[in-house]
Amino acid sequence: MKKANNSKTAGLGRNDSLIAPVTVAATAVTLCAMAATALWVFRLENRSAARARLRQVDAIGTVLAFSAETMLADEELSPLRSLVCLAARDYDLTSCRVVLPDNQVVADSRLAEINTQRLPAQWESASMDLPGPPGQDEIVHRYTLHVPGRGPARLEITACAPQAAASLWEAEAGVGAISVISLLFLLGTTRRLRARSRLFGALRQCLLAAGHGERSRAVLGIQEELGPEASVWNKLLAELEQRQQARVLEQAGRPADGDGASLADQACGSLADGLIVLDGQSFVRYANPAAAALLRLAGPSPAGRRMSELLDSAPLADAVRDVTSRPPGPATVVEHQDANRGWLRITVRRLAGAAQPAICLFIEDITQQRASEKARCEFISQVAHELRTPLTNIRLSVEVATEDHADPVEAARSMDVISRESSRLARMIDEMLSAAQIETGTLCLNRDAVKVDELLREMEADFAAQAADKGLRFHLELPVKCPQIQADKAKLTLAVHNLVGNALKYTPSGGQVKVVLEVNTGDLQVAVTDSGIGIASEEQARVFDRFYRSADPRVGRLTGTGLGLTLVRDVIRLHGGDIEVRSELDRGSTFLVRLPLPKEAA
Ligand code: ADP
Repeated sequence: MKKANNSKTAGLGRNDSLIAPVTVAATAVTLCAMAATALWVFRLENRSAARARLRQVDAIGTVLAFSAETMLADEELSPLRSLVCLAARDYDLTSCRVVLPDNQVVADSRLAEINTQRLPAQWESASMDLPGPPGQDEIVHRYTLHVPGRGPARLEITACAPQAAASLWEAEAGVGAISVISLLFLLGTTRRLRARSRLFGALRQCLLAAGHGERSRAVLGIQEELGPEASVWNKLLAELEQRQQARVLEQAGRPADGDGASLADQACGSLADGLIVLDGQSFVRYANPAAAALLRLAGPSPAGRRMSELLDSAPLADAVRDVTSRPPGPATVVEHQDANRGWLRITVRRLAGAAQPAICLFIEDITQQRASEKARCEFISQVAHELRTPLTNIRLSVEVATEDHADPVEAARSMDVISRESSRLARMIDEMLSAAQIETGTLCLNRDAVKVDELLREMEADFAAQAADKGLRFHLELPVKCPQIQADKAKLTLAVHNLVGNALKYTPSGGQVKVVLEVNTGDLQVAVTDSGIGIASEEQARVFDRFYRSADPRVGRLTGTGLGLTLVRDVIRLHGGDIEVRSELDRGSTFLVRLPLPKEAA
């Protein structure tokens, strides 16, 4: 990976390359100065030690000369010799002796050198031989002694020059070696420090860049050669990047909330169908609000949870595993049903182009579709059942009417039944056709002048007969005068048949059904009232829905399709009117139909 901070570290390197040689040169100069100073001090010390020794030997000589003169005058040779030995020993003298002219040695620190045991009474002041010049490392002091009444003598003192602790070249070599070692150490340390300073400089630059909002790993990465800290830093950056990506995915899982949400987020958030994105381990990375609603999930976004925690479905888990294990291809569809969520169809597909396996779950609520399919099947079986009843009645009546010796009264009644059942059949077929037209949205009216009071009176006999069959009382109440309206007579007949048919069906024997027509200002009102089982208040709004049948077990025991009231409402609305229901459970129901009157009649 390209380290974007290379230029920055290169900049650091340039500064560094100036600092390092200057530091090394300064340190080298300091070291040389220190070495020179050490050598100078070394020389000065040697010189002052030599001077001190000279002064010391001179002082010893002066004191010895004074004592020796006195002792020679008193002819005390033994004390003199002891003094000379002691002085040589105590003051580290090479030799110390008293010599008379003609080289007669009367006292010497080296006893073997003494060649005169007695001091002559008098001697000539002949010249005394001077020994050769002193050696380089020797100090030689001579003092002339005047022995009163006898003659001159000489005190000779020889001492070693003070020895330097080390020779000059040794000192120079030592100081040089120390300096070279120090310089090498300095160079090594500088190199190391330089590498460290490049690392810390690079880290500093990265932190400053991060402080200004830079988050790219490519920019903030450091060359691994700069040290182990660089690889730790790069690992931290990689982790940070991964966390950022995870956070982005998690944020993507939250509902779109306006400003912060991306367009794709908002689009997914507004889908009516559920959308969930899983990673390769079946953890939710994204879920839109519809998915949470369809899966009945409460609380915060499900991002980060396992899919199995959201929906416990073995077929779904198998499908996800299967789709994850193979390359992107055709989707797998599973269905799930439970009491809480209804019917769900889940399409499982692996996303193409994603670096890591990503599984997309597309969730549709097919509860309505399933209910509609079920209702359609039930409708067909109900219709077949309902068609069978009038057909059976017609067949029986035909048999009675066509018997060879049929009673004319019986025959006439049979013909009546045949006629009634045929109309019932025709109505049922009309109803089915109208239901089909409602389904396809093609229900339309054939309008004509219709007198609603006459239409109701024509149906009265039929309703009265049905009511009598079931032990119900039927009552029709019509106004004295009723204006004509432009309407589809067949469809209106169908609607009234459904309303009165329901009233008769859902009213137990002994009850009553009443149909009242009223002419109001502006509209006609038909009220179909029964004293039947009634409709629970929470169901009243739904009885006009397609295929809806009440959950009341008394309704379930009776045949029905759940289409009648839908047809009635559609027919009435096509006429510009409306329908409403007022009902009380176990007390009865009233269905109120209002049909608008033409302006001239209103
Ligand atoms: P169905 O074929 O089931 O009668 P409808 O569409 O005619 O279908 O009625 C829908 C539902 O409304 C019925 O299943 C019943 O539950 C309720 N319903 C309709 N009319 C009455 C009524 N007069 N009394 C009680 N319930 C009724």
